[in-house]
Amino acid sequence: MGKTADEEASRAAGQAAGYCWAPYRGGRARCTKRPGHRGPHVDHYTGRQSPTDMQGVEWD
Ligand SMILES: [Zn+2]
Repeated sequence: MGKTADEEASRAAGQAAGYCWAPYRGGRARCTKRPGHRGPHVDHYTGRQSPTDMQGVEWD
């Protein structure tokens, strides 16, 4: 699966909003940490099992 223009545009938009926005598993989640952060990527909004979970998906 290669990068597309849409992928680039989406990432640019996410980074403009202040997110790292690295894609996870083909874009099923997006890193919501700040750009250039250290440590694993985390999407705080995607993949939560319940509304009380502190975070969603984490990867590196
Ligand atoms: Zn990240």
